[in-house]
Amino acid sequence: MADERPRSAAMPRSTAMIERLVAFDTTSRNSNLEMIDFVRDHLAELGVESRLTHDDEGAKANLYATLGPGDRPGICLSGHTDVVPVDGQDWETDPFRATIREGRVYGRGTADMKSFIAAALTFAPDILARVKDTPIHFAFSYDEELGCLGAPRLIAAIERMPVRPAMCIIGEPTGMKVVTGHKGKRDLRCRVRGRECHSAYIHGGVNAIEIAAELVAFLGRMAQRLQREGPFEAAFDPPFTTVHVGTIAGGTALNIVPRECTFEFEIRNLPGHDPEPLIEEVRAFAEAELLPRMREVAVESGIEWQPRAAYPGLATGDDGEVVRLAKRLARANDTATVSFGTEGGLFDAAGIPAVVCGPGHIAQAHKANEFISLKQVAACEDFLGRLLDEIGGDGAG
Ligand SMILES: [Zn+2]
Repeated sequence: MADERPRSAAMPRSTAMIERLVAFDTTSRNSNLEMIDFVRDHLAELGVESRLTHDDEGAKANLYATLGPGDRPGICLSGHTDVVPVDGQDWETDPFRATIREGRVYGRGTADMKSFIAAALTFAPDILARVKDTPIHFAFSYDEELGCLGAPRLIAAIERMPVRPAMCIIGEPTGMKVVTGHKGKRDLRCRVRGRECHSAYIHGGVNAIEIAAELVAFLGRMAQRLQREGPFEAAFDPPFTTVHVGTIAGGTALNIVPRECTFEFEIRNLPGHDPEPLIEEVRAFAEAELLPRMREVAVESGIEWQPRAAYPGLATGDDGEVVRLAKRLARANDTATVSFGTEGGLFDAAGIPAVVCGPGHIAQAHKANEFISLKQVAACEDFLGRLLDEIGGDGAG
């Protein structure tokens, strides 16, 4: 670690492990296997076996490991190993070399979310020394930043086990607040195929850009209606489901009626608001209003809908066991919701109640000069220390 001042006795135990993990460039487009192998070897030295589940190419892996008895449910600590790119960002330090400066650790992934994983790994020997009937599971995924692409395989593997965790704590950066809710998300790509022709004779062509524009306008009206009419849930910001078109591409030259146009849109739904009928609505509009008109001119015309990333929302009831536990561990009196998504909804959908609670702040994530304060690392260690008391039978519950 690029220490710029002498290491004080108050330096949290996990800082050395944060340094190790930040040094792996696990930008989502890269393999995460070096980091996964490091974690697996670290746990193997403690006598803990890891199970890996790979992506189709074998270039990335999730890791799942149980500390303590494997035949009891226990508590899962979950995090993602990948980080967002640093491309085009103006960093003052090397993003893949953790740098301590004025009570903060700078580096890509320090807030989102290698510090949580580092703290869990640092506490692994303590967990093994204290664990009795309640095992602690580590679940570390790949490709969360691409839309939770890795976690479904991890969770499918957990579902095939004889005993599943009773609950899950996702260590995404919440400033150690206990978060019980976030929106779900569906990403889709729409590809409009028309017919190309000379723009002097537009009646012989089908203009894919103009058709796409009608779909984009339809989605825009849908977004306005949701904002006006709800449904609403005051706990979320904004308190309604949102629809948004983020990219569009089409056409080759001004004097050619464009054959192709592709755009991408997303729906961020309140946890209790099913996005499927919204997708059906725009598809029905395309079928009824646009396709007949297109096919009258060109039978080969079409509109394709390609689902991309998706994850469900999270809405864990405030009276759940996992919420009570996390509040005790975080010394929190209340709960909160966040606007960003996590893998929590996927665990919840698999019958494993989840909350989000981890060190650092999302405001520092995904940016140049990402950092976590040493105070937040220490707060996370206090949280894990209380978890040791709970599983060791010395705690309140
Ligand atoms: Zn994250």
